Amino acid sequence: MVCDMCYTHVAVAVSIVHDLPPEELRFHWKSGRLCLDFVATVGERWRRSFERLLAPDDLARWLLETGMLEVPPKVSGRQLAAARTLRESINRLARPGIKPEPGDRDQLNRWATRPTLAPQLRSDGGLGWAAERPVEAMLGTIARDAIDLLTGPLAGRIRECGASDCALLFVDTSRPGRRRWCSTEACGNRARTKAYRERRKQPA
Ligand SMILES: [Zn+2]
Repeated sequence: MVCDMCYTHVAVAVSIVHDLPPEELRFHWKSGRLCLDFVATVGERWRRSFERLLAPDDLARWLLETGMLEVPPKVSGRQLAAARTLRESINRLARPGIKPEPGDRDQLNRWATRPTLAPQLRSDGGLGWAAERPVEAMLGTIARDAIDLLTGPLAGRIRECGASDCALLFVDTSRPGRRRWCSTEACGNRARTKAYRERRKQPA
């Protein structure tokens, strides 16, 4: 149960930063949940909070990279705007310490009522997915995933990466529930070497 006193921050507004190097625009798939990977389409939420879905084609690419669609869907500017709005609602509802805005829950609930992807039998006998309106179906799927996460047993296990220069959200599924970093190889090692350097700097 979240009380008003638990909120320590208001979410930073997303900004458009021009001429970002391609590696900054890469998508991240480390959270363990579709809805939180979607939240990670904004970079550096701890500092610049920059948009990675700059154009409709970026959203099409993200949707394809989820592996749930076989061809990139056609995305309109209106659909991109709707996707960003849903994403920011999920960010505020899921991120520990952030106060949601009044319409966030409605936004999420509205998308969750949309038809989602339907299972399909592919010619090779495998499982595929299809929808008449794939963009809306994917946003509906993301919204349902967020509701499932926020109301399920892992709701209290949503963490923000502990590295000072990372703000990715992830679900801590470790048994003791003490995972601190989105990825041990990247952020965990960086945090440890930084702590080591700081210890060395202190006079003995
Ligand atoms: Zn991290």
